[in-house]
Amino acid sequence: MKHISVLVKPASALCNIRCKYCFYADVSSLREVRSFGKMKSETAEKMIEHLFVDLVDGDELTLAFQGGEPTLAGLTYYKNIVAFVEQQTKNVTVHYALQTNGLLINERWCQFLKEHQFLVGLSIDGHPLYHDLNRVDPKGRGTFQKVLATKELFDTYGIEYNILCVLTNPLAKEAKKVYRFLQEQSIQYVQFIPCLDELEAKKRSSYALTPQRFASFYGQLFKFWLAELQSGHYRSVKLFDDLMNLFVGGRVTACGILGNCQIQYVIEADGSVYPCDFYVLDEYRMGYIQESGLKELFEQEISKKFLCEKPDYGAFCHSCLFQKACNGGCKRMKDAIYVTKGQDFCGYQQVLTQFLPHKEEIMELVGRIAK
Ligand code: SF4
Ligand code: SF4
Repeated sequence: MKHISVLVKPASALCNIRCKYCFYADVSSLREVRSFGKMKSETAEKMIEHLFVDLVDGDELTLAFQGGEPTLAGLTYYKNIVAFVEQQTKNVTVHYALQTNGLLINERWCQFLKEHQFLVGLSIDGHPLYHDLNRVDPKGRGTFQKVLATKELFDTYGIEYNILCVLTNPLAKEAKKVYRFLQEQSIQYVQFIPCLDELEAKKRSSYALTPQRFASFYGQLFKFWLAELQSGHYRSVKLFDDLMNLFVGGRVTACGILGNCQIQYVIEADGSVYPCDFYVLDEYRMGYIQESGLKELFEQEISKKFLCEKPDYGAFCHSCLFQKACNGGCKRMKDAIYVTKGQDFCGYQQVLTQFLPHKEEIMELVGRIAK
């Protein structure tokens, strides 16, 4: 039995807000075609048909929709997707996920998301002040209040969601404020996404996370998180879950955590397919989902080339205690969380050094809470 996941961008790079640090606005600006517009119904139908080609009875498929802002494709697009899936004759379990800025979500969306058990990632940047600094509408106004209203709607409808928080360098100074916000808002699942410099950046932006800030943020967060766990409450922080999965369960639940790229199958609105969300660029186009199944796309030269593009991470990694379990990490996150340019500090190494001595205690506490 296999489980295949794909990322679909039904509205390409289109977005209804203008986050100042948007990495996809940067990536798409480096392509010949910045936005492929909205995915046509014929493309969506062929996409589902071809995704099923290599699946057999008992397999699982996760369709994760993201953008740009994927709700701009409209609710009818998603209803069609579900209908196309239901037309397939193989006995495959399909899971749906959606990453959204939450601005277009209303009761009709909620009814649909609940009915089809979508797991939703809702973007809120950890604290109202910091959210409104960067996540602004086209007129420059903050979007926090509207997104909070969407979160409340999700709570009302019992929709499963996690909060996606872009960890900028300024926000990373505020671990205490962020943790308090999670507690006040009863946010049980959170994922911090390191804010990256532009792909071809000549100098660092003020938003981009540094390894030092990454380490100090998680250092403080870990203390709050562990204290809460010791008091009997478990809150899911994606990085801590990934570390437990890897170092206790031997399972890889984050791309790049072992230092190897994986083919993620990112499907753009025109059906073109790419290996990773960070590299949705013309030179990495593996083909078109309307024309090929995933196995055929995987076998393209470009996939092999992408998987083999592994930079050498230098002396600091070679002498690191965690080298075998990390291998330099994700190549795109390098400057944000791993080794500094001066080769004298690694943010991830510092996090592991603090976290790993507690893994037995964490396992026991989590086990106790689960009973
Ligand atoms: S660049 Fe990072 S996220 Fe992309 S495939 Fe490689 S390890 Fe994964
Ligand atoms: S120095 Fe950092 S990036 Fe390099 S192997 Fe160790 S933990 Fe990984």
